[in-house]
Amino acid sequence: MKLENYVAGKWITGDGDGQLLYNAVTGEPVAAASTKGLDFKQLLEYGRTVGNPALRKMTFHERGNMLKALALHLRNHLDTFYRISYQTGATKADSWVDIEGGIGNLFANASLRRKFPNERFCVDGDSHNLGKNNTFMGTHILVPKEGVAVHINAFNFPVWGMLEKIAVNLLAGMPAVVKPATVTSYLTEAVVKEIINSKILPEGALQLVCGSAGDILDHVISQDVVTFTGSASTGLMLKSNPHILRENVPFNMEADSLNCIVLGEDVTPDKPEWDIFVKEVRKEMTLKAGQRCTGIRRIFVPENKIEDLWRAISASLSQTTIGNPLNEKVRMGSLAGQTQRNEVKDQVQKLLASSQIIYGSLDSVNVVDADPGKGAFMSPLLLMNDKPFQSKEVHEVEAFGPVSTIMPYKTTEEAVALSKLGKGSLCSTIVTADYKTAQHYVIGAATHHGRILVLNSECAKESTGHGSPLPLLVHGGPGRAGGGEEMGGLRGVKHYLQRTALQGSPTAITAITQVYQQYAAGKEPGKHPFKKYFEELQIGDQIVTEKRTITSEDIDRFADISGDHFYAHIKTTDFSGTMFEQQVAHGYFIMSLAAGLFVDSYEKNPVLLNYGIDELRFTKPVYPGAEIHIRFTCKEKLLNDKRVIEKPEDFKRGDDIDKGIVKWLVEMIDDTNEITGVATILTMVQHKP
Ligand code: NAP
Repeated sequence: MKLENYVAGKWITGDGDGQLLYNAVTGEPVAAASTKGLDFKQLLEYGRTVGNPALRKMTFHERGNMLKALALHLRNHLDTFYRISYQTGATKADSWVDIEGGIGNLFANASLRRKFPNERFCVDGDSHNLGKNNTFMGTHILVPKEGVAVHINAFNFPVWGMLEKIAVNLLAGMPAVVKPATVTSYLTEAVVKEIINSKILPEGALQLVCGSAGDILDHVISQDVVTFTGSASTGLMLKSNPHILRENVPFNMEADSLNCIVLGEDVTPDKPEWDIFVKEVRKEMTLKAGQRCTGIRRIFVPENKIEDLWRAISASLSQTTIGNPLNEKVRMGSLAGQTQRNEVKDQVQKLLASSQIIYGSLDSVNVVDADPGKGAFMSPLLLMNDKPFQSKEVHEVEAFGPVSTIMPYKTTEEAVALSKLGKGSLCSTIVTADYKTAQHYVIGAATHHGRILVLNSECAKESTGHGSPLPLLVHGGPGRAGGGEEMGGLRGVKHYLQRTALQGSPTAITAITQVYQQYAAGKEPGKHPFKKYFEELQIGDQIVTEKRTITSEDIDRFADISGDHFYAHIKTTDFSGTMFEQQVAHGYFIMSLAAGLFVDSYEKNPVLLNYGIDELRFTKPVYPGAEIHIRFTCKEKLLNDKRVIEKPEDFKRGDDIDKGIVKWLVEMIDDTNEITGVATILTMVQHKP
């Protein structure tokens, strides 16, 4: 069966016989892949001119809801995906990480929409007042790039590898061209077929090429983004492409790395952390048959415990049943193919220049329900290197399979230094129950690792593990790991958005960004803004309240009612040597009386509830006799999805009411017209019935 490419709105096969792809367990051919004859320049242009405008027309919320619909749709086809995934040598647990982990990424990015406005652009970070007279300011905005995201992926996660990346570019408003690694592209193709069948994405939002990437990189432009996941050597070749360099095309690289785990000096065999360590090492060596970019390649152990530890790890590895992933007893399947197995063996040979095998065999493996001659099976290999400061290979050579090397260290300082000899990794773990050791390691080693897991008995049960990148945390690492960064919640989305500094008057920037900027002209709201429904409110709707005189008795009463008798609020305090001249009003009192001034009505109105305060600053002391008034302005409106009503209680909680969140700027101003405090408060406001 020849795999199809999805290009310019059509499923087409490439020319010629194509590259044969094999079932990793049985060695039988499963498909052939070819991209011969595809016009790569044209398909990129199709993404830019058809997919990109369709996506950038949508708001972040619309795109987020699209991702959610896609995730729900793909969940209905899990059986098909799992059935195909077994052919890549993956066990059920491996496939779960790939398939459901990938779909989980769609859900996580769908939820991220709530962090964005219901707009096609967003403001990034704080605003800055740039003029003494408050007429000139600056902020940053983000808009989707006008190109295509080109994802060149590794073979080990054919589903997750695609979904974790497209979830992010689609939320940002950019289309994608996905080029999975050829050897497992038959699984990626099956998932893309379901995505396209669902018609959930606009046309042009996703294209797929199964097979060689041809000359695609010679046609990318600076509005495109290229991401690469794979080996450091291929990555270096691709990112040195003169066209990419000349056009300044953003290139994000996730390469292989020599990730490590450290056993803290405090951990002894009687502590729970000992078993936690052994379990983590075994899991990382055997899950996905060790074909994980984040897999533990280096194990650092205090020198006086190394023998006990390698025996414990070996005993644990010997419990792992290897074989046909369809057999329920099997805990480790095969590698993705014979080529991959041969590559791993070659890499192990290089490691053996300075290490020795202490568990497993390079030449034989016991398997169940399969023929070790036909399937790409391999025994887990634990290596020992007793001179880690003198050996180069162990910090440089990645054997992308169930292979890891154990090494001794003397002090935590040495463990930090050894971890850095990998010249940059995706992740590192320290197992310790001692917080000082944890801090020493983390602060010392952080420069060289993209992520650090501190594992102990407190978190081991819930921990997602050393090897799992998470959608809300950054994935990527410095140096050898590629120097890239992806995912990380909002951070990831920003890779596909152009950040532009925006300068001008507060009123102009309010009009452009639809976020009220302090000192911009306010709008006469016509009626009290609390009487307006969500749709009726306009950014900049503003009221200026009556004045209220602050008295010493007010302050005394607030001190009594709140119990806050801080010396500055007591009139008999001797104020010499303090920050204050006399009894000062509590900041929270001013904030409370602000509400008394801007809330106007005893009647029910569209404001459903007060949702809290985002920011609150007290900028000038308020003394008895001061007259305070409030400038109250509608700052920002955020959509709030109606929850699904599942139980009768949900009605009582108001989950059936259509509503949005409105942010208000509260400026507390005294009789000299100076601002004594600023707050951003939030209310929940009903939509028009
Ligand atoms: P690879 O051989 O470097 O290939 C990676 C991707 O690059 C594949 O899609 C490959 O396509 C493509 N490619 C190769 N030559 C190309 C060229 N001239 N032009 C355009 N594309 C080209 O890596 P792999 O064997 O698939 O994956 C294993 C490696 O990936 C391991 O070293 C692992 O550590 C690393 N990895 C890293 C991460 C991470 O997030 N950092 C994640 C997973 C894996 P073909 O398949 O068609 O050759």
